[in-house]
Amino acid sequence: MALLSIVLPAYNEEQNIANTAKVLSELMVEQNIDYELVFISDGSKDKTYEEIKKAAAQNPHIRGAQFSRNFGKEAGIFAGLELATGDAVIVMDCDLQHPPQVIPQMWEMWKNGAEVVEGIKSSRGKESLGHKLSAGLFYKIMSKLIKMDMNASSDFKLLDRKVVDVLLGLPERNTFFRALSFWAGFRTETITYEVQERQFGESKWSLWSLMKYAIANATSFSTLPLQLVTVMGIISILFSLVLAVQTLVKFLMHTAQEGFTTVILLVLLIGGFIMLSLGVIGHYIARIYEEVKGRPKYIISDVTDNVQGEVVGAWKKR
Ligand code: UDP
Ligand code: MG
Repeated sequence: MALLSIVLPAYNEEQNIANTAKVLSELMVEQNIDYELVFISDGSKDKTYEEIKKAAAQNPHIRGAQFSRNFGKEAGIFAGLELATGDAVIVMDCDLQHPPQVIPQMWEMWKNGAEVVEGIKSSRGKESLGHKLSAGLFYKIMSKLIKMDMNASSDFKLLDRKVVDVLLGLPERNTFFRALSFWAGFRTETITYEVQERQFGESKWSLWSLMKYAIANATSFSTLPLQLVTVMGIISILFSLVLAVQTLVKFLMHTAQEGFTTVILLVLLIGGFIMLSLGVIGHYIARIYEEVKGRPKYIISDVTDNVQGEVVGAWKKR
């Protein structure tokens, strides 16, 4: 019988673990699907990992790991993929905002040959206006840069073992899971779902963290900002050519004026362009620096008893 792994990254979700574990395992038993739940506590500071251990002790289908600190949801997802042993893996939030009722349908699609099942949001659920606006802007920019419609896509998806192995084999540290499954290709089907309301706790994203996430992902998936630097350079060269001709003509006709205003404005404008461009380039160099250091995406500090393997910094399969 094929095994379905469900990967659930969790950061300070002590109120959600027990409930989510119960809801999902009941559903899997009811649907007669052989399953495992992989909870990754992303360096939670509350009792999340204790809750995972408790759940794992009660139900052998549940496994989990704790990070040494908060490494972010991306790292949580990848650690989950690494630990998952299933023939198909579903990644979902552990706050049940991704409705579990959709899982059996995803599973059916996989059995019928789909290698990737993308969860598409039909609505974003109830969110604060600020969150909605910032998330909206975030997806607009992302979609433009990546050339994929990111607005409705989410981290809720099913991946075939083949695809999981491809993603795990990628050498890069800065990953963007949501877009990587598009990038990988494979036989992809979509399923629409309605984002549910969060029952316990609150969203872990602040405006600031969302912005950092947007910039990091945009630059990891697109070099367009670098090309914009070139475009800006060309525009200022054309502009300065016109001004140079004008200045020279005026000089030769002995009608040159003091013209300090122009000089100051030009210095400011060009200075601004240069600083901005250096910033963009610097950002990419920083990314290259991070990749070159080759540090692991995450460090696992503990795993539940039923996880087999070795915990030395990043957990390795044996
Ligand atoms: N999460 C995580 N690490 C983080 C932030 C969030 O593992 O640093 C998890 C979180 O526990 C949840 C999922 O990512 O399972 C989605 O987070 P959240 O519900 O806060 O985001 P939202 O649903 O508001 O977009
Ligand atoms: Mg949520």
